[in-house]
Amino acid sequence: MDIRTLFVANTVANFAFALGILLYVIGQHSVHGSIAIWGKSRFFAGLGFVFLALRGTVIPVPIVIVAANSFLFTSVLLSVFAFKSCLARPHPKFPSTAMVWAGFLVLWLILQAIGIPEYMRLALFTFYFSVCLAIVSRDLAFGWSKNSILQKFLGIVTPVFSLLAFIRGVDALLHPSQGLFSHSASQVAVMFIGFVESVSTSFGFLLLAKERTDRELEMQASTDPLTGLPNRRAFQSMAEMVFSLEKRTGRPVSLLFLDIDHFKKINDRYGHDAGDRILVEFAGILRNSVRQCDIPVRVGGEEFGVLMPETSPAAAYEAAERIRIATESCRVEMRGESVNFTISIGVYGEETAFSPDLDAYFKNADGALYRAKQNGRNRVEMA
Ligand code: GH3
Ligand code: MG
Ligand code: MG
Repeated sequence: MDIRTLFVANTVANFAFALGILLYVIGQHSVHGSIAIWGKSRFFAGLGFVFLALRGTVIPVPIVIVAANSFLFTSVLLSVFAFKSCLARPHPKFPSTAMVWAGFLVLWLILQAIGIPEYMRLALFTFYFSVCLAIVSRDLAFGWSKNSILQKFLGIVTPVFSLLAFIRGVDALLHPSQGLFSHSASQVAVMFIGFVESVSTSFGFLLLAKERTDRELEMQASTDPLTGLPNRRAFQSMAEMVFSLEKRTGRPVSLLFLDIDHFKKINDRYGHDAGDRILVEFAGILRNSVRQCDIPVRVGGEEFGVLMPETSPAAAYEAAERIRIATESCRVEMRGESVNFTISIGVYGEETAFSPDLDAYFKNADGALYRAKQNGRNRVEMA
């Protein structure tokens, strides 16, 4: 296989990906940010390969070297950031792409000025590439057991490429005479593997980004953004699941409906943001007061619910009392004042829930909550 053919193939493949992603980004209203970063990374890779392929033409060699390396180094770093962003891993708020490129440009002007030999340049790039792939591998492997098959596959393939790049770096140091364009078997093999790596990672990355976006959308659709609790929609489907299970076992199941008292007054007095803080605070109390298998939700506004599988009405009442007391004793700093708030709770449960009916549960718990309000608030009522 001709080495220049491989350079051209790499150039075309990278530009094709960059163009495809550009068209995709233009056509979409909301795109995962990582996809745009990946597109830029492919564009810079394409530019890098163009300049590599231009060696030996009219363009002076030092210019080709500086340009190719600064583009390729930028491309690799951007791909690391694309993976980090896609996998929601923390990464520094980096300066713009142009500044990253400018940084590498200056680096390569300096290296060129001090006359770094070709085999060292080659080793430097392959070691840098290897380290970047190792970083991506670590990000891909994070939380291994919960990851999708696709992510696991990429988590296995990427360190292999990292290792190959490392071996190529060592090989470059051991054989200073074999340059980038030598037709040695090892160089052709490396360029071929590089091509496969480039194409497969691009597909892999895009699939991973799609998978992540889908998962995020699903989360958003079922989570209340303010408190992070499941929303009404998610509650409905979880409750249906719990109820169909209880139908088989006839074990008890209980439901709490909770509503913050005089919440409108808090909003009116301290502002809507302060009201939001109370909601977040209360969501925390709720999370801390219930068991792992209980399902706390924000039903809407200042109304919450807790579904309690395997819980008798009496035990649910006790839990509700605990929540009420924890809420009553909570203090929130607002405008220099220490503010407290209270909650009214309606409880409904069945000791043997052989034929639990979701609508009946909702209606009865709501009725009990109404009575708690009627009877003076800051109290628990049992249906
Ligand atoms: P009661 O003790 O009878 O429950 O009185 P209340 O004032 O708590 O009840 P009401 O239903 O009259 O008022 C609920 C208020 O909750 C009205 C609405 O502006 C406010 N609210 C609903 N959602 C939010 C929210 O997301 N953030 C904030 N800050 N306020 C909200
Ligand atoms: Mg209300
Ligand atoms: Mg209220």
